[in-house]
Amino acid sequence: MPKQKCIICGKPLNDGIMINGRGICKNCEERIIKAESGTDFYEYYKGCIRKTIAYYMIRGVDYNWLNYPL
Ligand SMILES: [Zn+2]
Repeated sequence: MPKQKCIICGKPLNDGIMINGRGICKNCEERIIKAESGTDFYEYYKGCIRKTIAYYMIRGVDYNWLNYPL
């Protein structure tokens, strides 16, 4: 099985979350949760999501800030 890479930072995925087969490392996940709308990281992350993920539901975490048309 090929090693997964984080869709945000591109590093090999050792820990973190999977969304539709795409991985986000623990480090980026924490950044995302703390990210505020309008920051560079937030905008960058939204771009990553838009490109790679059409459906979003993770671990019951409140990702309301991702509510935008895909
Ligand atoms: Zn990452």
